[in-house]
Amino acid sequence: MGLVLNDYVAAERDRIVDTLLDWLRVPSISAHPAHAADVRRSAEWLADRFREAGLEHVEVIETPGAPAVYGDHLHAAADAPTALVYGHHDVQPVDPLDEWASPPFEPVIEEGECRARGAVDDKGQVLYQLEAARGWLQGAGGTPLPVNLKFIVEGEEEVGSPNFEALLEAERERLACDVVVVSDTDMWAPDVPTTCVGMRGLVAFDVRVRTARSDLHSGLFGGAVPNPTHVIARMVAALHDEAGRVAVPGFYDHVRALTPAEEASLAEIPVDEAAWREMAGVRTLVGESGRSLLERIWTRPTCDVVGIGVGYQGDGMKTVVPAKGGFKVTFRLVPDQRPDHVTARFTEWLRSVTPDGVDVEAVAEGGVAPALTPVDHPAVGALCRAIERVWGKAPLFTRIGGSGPEEALGRVLGAPVLYLGVALPDDRFHAPNERMVMDQFWKGLLAAGELWQELAFA
Ligand SMILES: [Zn+2]
Repeated sequence: MGLVLNDYVAAERDRIVDTLLDWLRVPSISAHPAHAADVRRSAEWLADRFREAGLEHVEVIETPGAPAVYGDHLHAAADAPTALVYGHHDVQPVDPLDEWASPPFEPVIEEGECRARGAVDDKGQVLYQLEAARGWLQGAGGTPLPVNLKFIVEGEEEVGSPNFEALLEAERERLACDVVVVSDTDMWAPDVPTTCVGMRGLVAFDVRVRTARSDLHSGLFGGAVPNPTHVIARMVAALHDEAGRVAVPGFYDHVRALTPAEEASLAEIPVDEAAWREMAGVRTLVGESGRSLLERIWTRPTCDVVGIGVGYQGDGMKTVVPAKGGFKVTFRLVPDQRPDHVTARFTEWLRSVTPDGVDVEAVAEGGVAPALTPVDHPAVGALCRAIERVWGKAPLFTRIGGSGPEEALGRVLGAPVLYLGVALPDDRFHAPNERMVMDQFWKGLLAAGELWQELAFA
């Protein structure tokens, strides 16, 4: 196959592997303050590789937390599109250390896999993007790089990107682009190439219930005073109806139906429910009736109570009617639900299920809107052609059940978000023995090379 970067990969393979291993030796764990200097070292290491690759205006951008790295190459034709590649250079903590087959920051390549913390999440996936750019800039395409290219690689993704949206706002002009390319996601299977087209959003509430000034003796008062345990249990039980739907009125108001193309694509993904149950470690699956497993985890909104705290939890018994308690609840949102709308509907519902004489307060904790890339956008077509050329078949469309900085990227920069991620579901993200399957790595590099060409002519 005449792929743009075939010869480049053949000639540079060993150096690229060495570069990957070198970066993986930097323990850039953003969650541990003791590793702050390593996260900085990782940023500076990457800035050096940016310069070597031929990127310009390379800069380590400071944030109130860990630094991000920027670089660009803006010499394409006047009407050429500008693409912004997003990734992150920080990694997850490594515990439990004794479950690693080799030390997490001493990367090894065995049986076609690179094993190290950060191998796939996300250093490997940033590096193939960078090497694809380097290949083009060294003339591998036979023509100049056909798009304007920018990179932004943050250092705090694994701690929830607390400063990233502010960085996007502050750097809106420098990061301006026609399309964002995220390489921090996975594919369904090596022989089932997929691309994500949406991520669920999130709103969460800390609900506090108070029924009395202080705890009361259950023998003297029990039977005549309200019990917050019972109040909370009723509320939690009322969140879902018999069909597994969220019972908050108006919750589904803005849920957008899938397009026929997305529906058809979803139906083609080969799902082994038994294997999925096994992976989750559960014996049974629940959820909205009439919906498939993939719909439940990707394209439908959900509600999960993540914790309840009320009453006496210590040893033995305490004969008491507690005075207060609470629960924490999260809602995963899908397009076009809005965090503020769901917050308003939940608050109304909560009022409607609150008994007289009981104080209930709900504190909203953050809010992330769902992200959706229209599958009929020309840039999605370009990505699909790039993937098809490398994998030999067109990708199916997936969604991601969780949320990340992708929504902010698309919203603040006003550009569609493409997902060129080649991780596999069993790459042990965030777990011991994280790995990158090297065949996927090389394919990712080749596909990134094809993408710049496809985007220029989309
Ligand atoms: Zn990641």
